[in-house]
Amino acid sequence: MTTYTAPLRDMRFVLHEVFAAEKTLTALPGFEDVTADVMDAVLEECAKLCQNVLHPLNQSGDQEGCTFKDGQVTAPKGFKDAYKQYSEGGWCGLTANPDFGGQGLPEALDYFVAEMVGSANLSFGLYPGLSQGTMLAIAAHATDDLKKVYMPKLVSGEWQGAMNLTEPHCGSDLGLLRTKAAPNGDGTYNVSGTKIFISAGDSDLVDNVVHLVLARLPDAPEGSRGISLFLVPKMFVNADGSLGARNAVSVGSIEHKMGIKGSATCVMNFDGAKGWLVGQPHKGLACMFTMMNKERMFVGAQGISQSELAYQNAVTYAKDRMQGRAADGAKYPNKSADPIIVHADIRNKLLYARSVVEAQRALTLYAHMQVDISHRHPDAATRERADDMAGLLTPIAKAGGSGFGSEITNLCLQVFGGHGYVREWGMEQMVRDVRITEIYEGTNTIQSLDLIGRKLGLGGGRLVKGFMAETDAVVSRLQGRNDLAEFVGPFKDARAKLAACTQWIVEQSQKDPNLRSAVSNDYLRMFALTCMAWMWVLMVESATAKKDSGDSFYDAKLHVGRFFMTKVLPQIASLDGMIRAGSAPAMNLPEALF
Ligand SMILES: Cc1cc2nc3c(=O)[nH]c(=O)nc-3n(C[C@H](O)[C@H](O)[C@H](O)COP(=O)(O)OP(=O)(O)OC[C@H]3O[C@@H](n4cnc5c(N)ncnc54)[C@H](O)[C@@H]3O)c2cc1C
Repeated sequence: MTTYTAPLRDMRFVLHEVFAAEKTLTALPGFEDVTADVMDAVLEECAKLCQNVLHPLNQSGDQEGCTFKDGQVTAPKGFKDAYKQYSEGGWCGLTANPDFGGQGLPEALDYFVAEMVGSANLSFGLYPGLSQGTMLAIAAHATDDLKKVYMPKLVSGEWQGAMNLTEPHCGSDLGLLRTKAAPNGDGTYNVSGTKIFISAGDSDLVDNVVHLVLARLPDAPEGSRGISLFLVPKMFVNADGSLGARNAVSVGSIEHKMGIKGSATCVMNFDGAKGWLVGQPHKGLACMFTMMNKERMFVGAQGISQSELAYQNAVTYAKDRMQGRAADGAKYPNKSADPIIVHADIRNKLLYARSVVEAQRALTLYAHMQVDISHRHPDAATRERADDMAGLLTPIAKAGGSGFGSEITNLCLQVFGGHGYVREWGMEQMVRDVRITEIYEGTNTIQSLDLIGRKLGLGGGRLVKGFMAETDAVVSRLQGRNDLAEFVGPFKDARAKLAACTQWIVEQSQKDPNLRSAVSNDYLRMFALTCMAWMWVLMVESATAKKDSGDSFYDAKLHVGRFFMTKVLPQIASLDGMIRAGSAPAMNLPEALF
């Protein structure tokens, strides 16, 4: 049996002390009332729901899984009631526009909700999680008529959204997709094709599912330039808003998976299903990116959520499990052995987990605040800078949160020894559940190719230059501080290595077409580690200001930050070496010799 306590203290620390969120957010039009008290109240309510309602269903949901019978998908026991509480609490429309019944709160808060819900129950979180991106895409790109019909019910949580990209022969390469949309001549389209792996494609939690579907019009150009986006409801909606007949949308089957078994992953059949165009013809991929960027951040938060859950449970176990004696003398001489937390190796694992989780949390919050600023700041140049930063950090937050999430969850399982491998303690579920976060919403390799192939080059390198300017300002402000030298120094070195490596990649990739693919994952990891070091510098700056307060929270921050700088960040040196080895080590072996 696992336990989960929402890390509210740490969340409040990054929100209020590190990023002064109240000052930043209340200055944005529409967020004037989002005071620190409001934010804290939202976090506390969410924590209660997660701890008391969602987490108790985590293991039972995994064991029971979803079922599919007579064309109907059923979520595990308890999910329907929990979802009712979730939607009635207004959580589905937390960030949605109040014109549609939403609460109009910042993305920054939504990140914490996603993290807490993910820790409590990763499978459950996918149902409302997919609706979030659906709402954003509809609000940004659909006609007013479509918004009027679909937004209020998505916001209230009475209906859910689903994202239909993947087909059997078409995963990472969306240019291959074959689903067709034929115009009916009355402004609607008949959508035909099969989509696979569709999360929350159907369930018994809601009466209607609003599918956003990528498909090709008859005159579509080949490849990704010929993709359009359609809204295809499971049930038609009558003029008075009530549900009408069933559309030609059905579930073919559900997948039997390694993890997230409480989340329905559906094969969706569209057999001439009636749909409505969203956005312009052939521009569907760009519209879908409104949803995908949101979901990518969400998946990063899912990775962090499992790291946090795994860390919490591993600490409890390490303080309880008695094996061996401390190397520097027995700590509990009256007992038959010491708890395993006395061993340096166990501490290495726990501190690796914690130092990464806390930095990732700060970074992901920062990225979400950039999204809020990019949407609402009155000054256009500030909006553009924030948009650049959010764009640069999206693949890093997704692949960093999920990649380190998998690594950390595995390390925390190791703390349990054999007891981690058996079902009873719940650690093996976390390892199975978190694994998908590295794959869906664009694999982590696809994220790294987005970073290295697209984001680096945008606007003549404007995004990276913005990042370098922002972090340079931090170094310049703090490098004279002797009390922070052990943090600022390593960050400065990491930043310099990242800058030099970026330059090297830009130059070499012009000569070597395989270079980007050969180094992209290592480069993203190097970038993520540098970002985490940046976050640690900001966090220890805040903690140092309070170190004489008598609150041990701040002492712990300094210790954990020190661990990161000395035991995690040095990975950058080996990544640098691996990147500079180029593509030859991977490419020189002829295919036939594999
Ligand atoms: C549980 C689950 C839920 C999902 N939910 C959804 C959903 O809600 N909606 C939806 O549309 N899809 C969903 N997916 C699909 C998911 O997004 C895809 O599985 C993912 O994008 C990868 O596609 P693929 O599986 O076809 O792998 P492929 O694209 O075949 O990739 C196979 C391998 O090749 C690598 N690769 C591919 N192209 C390149 C390249 N150019 N360079 C280097 N390496 C490359 C990949 O990184 C991967 O390691 C879900 C999948 C699962 C398993």
